[in-house]
Amino acid sequence: MCTMNGNHQDAPRTTVPTLAPVNITTITAEEIDRWLCECGNTPHGDGFDFVDRHGNSVDPTPEQWPEPLYMCNNCGLVMDAATVDITAHTVAVIGRIAR
Ligand SMILES: [Zn+2]
Repeated sequence: MCTMNGNHQDAPRTTVPTLAPVNITTITAEEIDRWLCECGNTPHGDGFDFVDRHGNSVDPTPEQWPEPLYMCNNCGLVMDAATVDITAHTVAVIGRIAR
C-alpha cells in the first residue's frame, strides 16, 4: 500500500498520524449514520466531516478516503465508521485532531 517510491512524492510526508490520543474509546451511535458525539454534536448540528488520518478534509472516494474516518466538526474527535456497532450503539473513537 504505502511504498517509498510511489507517486506524489513532491513533498515529504510524515507517516506519523497527527491524531492525538484520547481517553475516550467510543461515542454513541444511535443509528449507523446518526451519531452523538461526546461534545453533543450530531449530524444535524455541526456535523461530521470526511477526513484522513492526517486530519485533512477529503472527498469520500476510495483514493482520498481509504478508511471511513469522520471528524466531529465541533470538537475534532475522529471516529472509524467501520466500527459502528448497531447493537451496542457505539462507534470507536480513534483520536482527536487538534484544531
Ligand atoms: Zn464532538
